[in-house]
Amino acid sequence: MNRSYEYDVVVAGGGTAGVAAAVGAAKCGAKTLLIERNPYLGGEATNSGVAAFCGFYTCGGNPVKVVSGVGDMVLEEMEKLGNTITYIISATGNKNINFQPEYLKCALDNLLDAEGADCLMHTSLMSAEVKDGAVQSVQCMDDEGIFTVKASCFVDATGDANLARMAGAETIWGDEEGQVQAATLTFRLSGVDTAKPMTPDAVERAVMQAKKEGIPHLTREKGFIQVREDSDIVTVLLPTVIPKSLDGRELTMHERDGRKQVISYVKALKKYMPGMEKSELAVIGPSIGFRETRRLVGRKRISAEDVLERRKCEDGVGRGGWKPEIHKSQTKMGEYIDVEDGSYFDIPLGALQSANIHNLYGAGRIVSSDTIGFAAVRVMGTCFATGHAAGVAAAYQAVKGEAEISAVRAELEKQGAMI
Ligand SMILES: Cc1cc2nc3c(=O)[nH]c(=O)nc-3n(C[C@H](O)[C@H](O)[C@H](O)COP(=O)(O)OP(=O)(O)OC[C@H]3O[C@@H](n4cnc5c(N)ncnc54)[C@H](O)[C@@H]3O)c2cc1C
Repeated sequence: MNRSYEYDVVVAGGGTAGVAAAVGAAKCGAKTLLIERNPYLGGEATNSGVAAFCGFYTCGGNPVKVVSGVGDMVLEEMEKLGNTITYIISATGNKNINFQPEYLKCALDNLLDAEGADCLMHTSLMSAEVKDGAVQSVQCMDDEGIFTVKASCFVDATGDANLARMAGAETIWGDEEGQVQAATLTFRLSGVDTAKPMTPDAVERAVMQAKKEGIPHLTREKGFIQVREDSDIVTVLLPTVIPKSLDGRELTMHERDGRKQVISYVKALKKYMPGMEKSELAVIGPSIGFRETRRLVGRKRISAEDVLERRKCEDGVGRGGWKPEIHKSQTKMGEYIDVEDGSYFDIPLGALQSANIHNLYGAGRIVSSDTIGFAAVRVMGTCFATGHAAGVAAAYQAVKGEAEISAVRAELEKQGAMI
């Protein structure tokens, strides 16, 4: 069977950024397709069990909301499905939104359906055909074989800039030395007494004791445990690896090593962390969560100064409320660079546009940024914002012939985004 499809906008990757891009583009009236290799949407939020949205609010005291639009639509859809989200002040004093990943999968399905965006799951992007500096089509694969999808514009929301790489767009790996932030294989424990302190300090006391007692395969000594109100299930963010590439052989080694670490952490926490005595291992991952891999080189770049000085710009298409959060060590907890409470920076449209492929947009954790800029834009609240903006801009370019900045900003405002 020879299959081929044609769309206005194709979005590669169905994480928080990709779903926001697909919804934003469909809302503009563009014929939109979202392609996702997993059998469910959500990206790291569901596939790596990262169960707290950061970045909807500014950091520190007096949190100010900076993301709405598609991000809010997702929250509303999850609320409709049941009591699945809670607003909390985290161990680091920031306002986050904790949610249940299994409900997020269902909410994202509903949202795409409601907005009329097509979606192909179980489908991997394999290659891109590029002519005259523009992507013409992508080749995809499912278990029936290979097929082609043509489109006028493409959004790379793969988290790893996979489409950009296939298309020959300029990308970078990690920081100036080629080092990326540590990756973590999360796991969930049930039967936890969360009335006991689940703080990074309590974790550290337990892990240091376990290391002293000779429990092997323990890396990070201090880290977060995500707790939900009225639930005895917690998410633990401790087993850590540092990837050098996305080569399957290397990643297989990291997944296996990560699972060994999980088993050791379960032993350590059950033995030494108050409240964990009767806990059970409920879910591993499923996949290692990558904080940082490749990202796009864009027409503009979000720099350390943009983020730390909370700079505003006239071509802003989203707001970043988070502060740089850097996880470079395999054994130590992440570090933050402080910013003024209640402050945010603008994300310019050019940071979402490939420097050399003129119909390719990047969204989510691949947006064009330096190391410190990246450390602030990678959180999921901000991924909703950059995805939404990339989807709207791609739709305008596909349907109206150009992503003129004042039209894109007006459309985003119409769709409820904060710019
Ligand atoms: C351990 C850890 C803890 C974190 N903690 C937090 C936190 O507490 N709060 C927070 O807000 N953020 C947190 N983050 C950051 C955040 O989770 C990610 O930066 C964010 O989820 C990235 O979203 P995204 O949509 O850009 O990419 P992803 O969520 O990675 O989604 C990309 C999607 O693209 C798909 N894909 C990739 N390649 C292909 C292909 N070739 N074909 C088809 N589909 C493809 C993938 O399957 C995936 O579904 C954490 C990250 C990690 C790793």
